[in-house]
Amino acid sequence: MRMYPGTFDLGMFLAVRAESRHEETIPVPEEQHVAQVSPKARQKLVYDFHEGNKDLKDLLGGKGANLAEMTNLGLPVPPGFTITTEACKEYLETGDEPKALRDEVSAHLDALEQQMGKKLGQKNDPLLVSVRSGAKFSMPGMMDTVLNIGLSDASVTGLTAQSGDERFAWDSYRRLIQMFGKTVLGVDGELFEDALDEAKKAKGVATDVELEAKDLKKLVKLFKGIVSRETGRDFPQDPREQMDLAVRAVFESWNTDRAKLYRRQERIPHDLGTAVNVCSMVFGNLGPDSGTGVAFTRDPASGHQGVYGDYLQNAQGEDVVAGIRNTVPLAELENVDKKSYDQLMQIMETLETHYKDLCDIEFTIERGKLWMLQTRVGKRTAAAAFRIATQLVDQGLIDEAEALQRVTGHQLAQLMFPRFDSDHAGDTLARGIAASPGAAVGKAVFDSYTAIKWSRSGEKVILIRRETNPDDLDGMIAAEGILTSRGGKTSHAAVVARGMGKTCVCGAEELEVDTKRRQLTAPGGIVIDEGDLISIDGSSGKVYQGEVPVVPSPVVEYFEGRMHAGAEDADELVASVHRMMAYADRVRRLRVRANADNAEDAARARRFGAQGIGLCRTEHMFLGERRQHVERLILAESDKEREAALEELTPLQKGDFVQLFEAMDGLPVTVRLLDPPLHEFLPDITELSVRVALAESRKDANENDLRLLQAVHRLHEQNPMLGLRGVRLGLVIPGLFAMQVRAIAEAAADRLDANGDPRAEIMIPLVGTVQELELVRDEAEQVIAEVEARRGVDLKLTLGTMIELPRAALTAAQIAESADFFSFGTNDLTQTVWGFSRDDVEASFFTAYLERGIFGVSPFETIDRDGVGALVRSASEAGRATRPDLKLGVCGEHGGDPESVHFFHEVGLDYVSCSPFRIPVARLEAARAASAGNGGGSDHR
Ligand code: PEP
Ligand code: MG
Repeated sequence: MRMYPGTFDLGMFLAVRAESRHEETIPVPEEQHVAQVSPKARQKLVYDFHEGNKDLKDLLGGKGANLAEMTNLGLPVPPGFTITTEACKEYLETGDEPKALRDEVSAHLDALEQQMGKKLGQKNDPLLVSVRSGAKFSMPGMMDTVLNIGLSDASVTGLTAQSGDERFAWDSYRRLIQMFGKTVLGVDGELFEDALDEAKKAKGVATDVELEAKDLKKLVKLFKGIVSRETGRDFPQDPREQMDLAVRAVFESWNTDRAKLYRRQERIPHDLGTAVNVCSMVFGNLGPDSGTGVAFTRDPASGHQGVYGDYLQNAQGEDVVAGIRNTVPLAELENVDKKSYDQLMQIMETLETHYKDLCDIEFTIERGKLWMLQTRVGKRTAAAAFRIATQLVDQGLIDEAEALQRVTGHQLAQLMFPRFDSDHAGDTLARGIAASPGAAVGKAVFDSYTAIKWSRSGEKVILIRRETNPDDLDGMIAAEGILTSRGGKTSHAAVVARGMGKTCVCGAEELEVDTKRRQLTAPGGIVIDEGDLISIDGSSGKVYQGEVPVVPSPVVEYFEGRMHAGAEDADELVASVHRMMAYADRVRRLRVRANADNAEDAARARRFGAQGIGLCRTEHMFLGERRQHVERLILAESDKEREAALEELTPLQKGDFVQLFEAMDGLPVTVRLLDPPLHEFLPDITELSVRVALAESRKDANENDLRLLQAVHRLHEQNPMLGLRGVRLGLVIPGLFAMQVRAIAEAAADRLDANGDPRAEIMIPLVGTVQELELVRDEAEQVIAEVEARRGVDLKLTLGTMIELPRAALTAAQIAESADFFSFGTNDLTQTVWGFSRDDVEASFFTAYLERGIFGVSPFETIDRDGVGALVRSASEAGRATRPDLKLGVCGEHGGDPESVHFFHEVGLDYVSCSPFRIPVARLEAARAASAGNGGGSDHR
């Protein structure tokens, strides 16, 4: 490995370590775990470090597995052992340690004592151990750790004698009582902190290090007093009791509120449990020939190899993290202790070649002897993940299939959104739900009309609403970003914004939005008026006052075709993304289509790699000025009036389709016939009622308004989601679907005339029974035949259905008889399988469900494999049993969700369809699923 000096920033180290842990573990197929643990070995509850290996993360946790791996590589790891996650699980289930645990721990402790040549807590020369948590997935700072176990009134003098440093010994004892008191005995940590502050004040010093041995002795006495007073028992002097209690506390720390919350956020299953590592203590604070440090085998920001890390002389690990003293760049260690430095460099090379990846390392030097305390495949920024994956391919360490497992769709998505320059972000006004990533800055506006007006005059605006509805669509399009004070990740604002690739923060409940007064009030009484600048970060959910500078994403420039991977201004990141996408496209089986309703989105989708359109929602074509035509259609009192309205709509529809087919020439375009309840096209019932009532009181009621009000009342539904929509509309409004089919057929004929290659597919929404489909199909076929005959063309149109109702899924075998394709509408399928109204449940009780662990992630975001997923699977099988060539796709929001893409790959769908901005993510995840074999590469989170 090439090494050259580099500087490293501790802040960066900690930030990166605290980041998402998706890339932290080397993906190991589940079978491998099982293969490594024989049924007999599974019973074992304690593993010595030399008994484990890096593939046993399920059992030994990440830390334990990697300590074992390093031990087996012959690296200098302080001896110790790991108590398995199985032991923890049993403790959490039964409230008691497994019966065999005590004896197994005793046996391993005996072996450790023999190896170290001293006994735990031995009076004259005590063996001290640390007891550290370590789950399969790192949960930084979420669980407990206790250091210096084994110190007592008796052994503290032994430690003094052995170290020759009285202050060190008493400080270690003081730290033990404090840590143990807080984490094991549940004493309020502030009590110790206050006593420590008092001691410093009394002595007139500012820092802990200025306290002398005699002060620390007094403090130990005080601390012991606190423990006795607060817990009704003395601080345990028996070292084994200390150890057992600490182990139990680590088990219990798996279920603290903060650990649970972290797991929910990070999608770590709640039933994994933590392992516990008992490790002999080594000390970096025994003088200038001691110290502690952290290192990366490569720069976690750029991926470049080099000496990246920090070192702190005469200090313990905790001092580095606490930032009490300034660290020096790791390269300086060469001057301080050349022997240890050279050994460390050698070890880093060994680790990187062995793990075939970037590793991060924690080490301690005790009186000139180097000890490795931890290593793991290091966290890295999203950009570094891509760079490192391709660098490792170039170095011949990994192949392309493995490279695909080293990056994730989440990371790619992160790279695609513009970001705020975090160095220049001011104070946050509030924090909401990070609904659609990106960074947007603009003037606050409180209604769509103003959003459109201002944006037309060149202003950038942020549309702020309590919540949005379909009427806000134009305003949302005009705005740079959307901010709402209500609603969750699948509220209207969130879903539509994600679809448009537009930044959105929703559910910022601390903000009071007053659309009438055109202002919002933030906590602390800060008022933002219309026209004031605000900045919203859809990746973090943060809302800032004023303008925060934005850094553009070169990766989007690349996908847009505005930057070429080989161009001079293309950086290493763009080149890496380009290569990874090329691997992905070679490997994946799933095709990726776009949900797009207009030529502009279709063209972008194509640039982003879409292989067709999987869902064109035609309702979006009836908004804005065209709404009046729909209004006329609804109000029509005779066939003639209705036909007239339809006739006006036909050319408009046809025009839309011509553009769409042109943008997607040669690729399939699935056009869905009208789906939403008609009242969505009509005015708001309350507003209209008030208008009519006022007019009536003035005796100048408008005839049209009266008719409209009647229609609105007639069409009003209690549960529109389950009412007159989808195929039902087509069956009760004569001519509506026929008009749409005609427009599609005529548009396709026009494209053929223009030597184009239109490949339209007609899709019927919300079908529940094959009879509905047959009726629509008969009518559609007549219309198509008529157009084909008249235009003298063969349009090769296919006709299929959405599967978005449980009944459709359950009768898929019959439905397939009348369908050329199925497209799973997993949005509605999720609503109807769970009985959830998407727009209502997220705001009302989803938070409670997530908090109580009923599900770890919203089923609207990631497919519910066991419920909705089971229906998708069985309907796919049943459909294909009827019609082996049945084309299968998905066009619900899940089509662009990384976890769900793996599921759709496993089920055997032909394609996923998602919003244009999610296409690269879906391409990548489809390849990751394909290259990871049967398991689909998903690590079940
Ligand atoms: C669906 O239900 O999954 C779907 C794509 O349709 P919509 O979201 O338009 O109801
Ligand atoms: Mg639907």
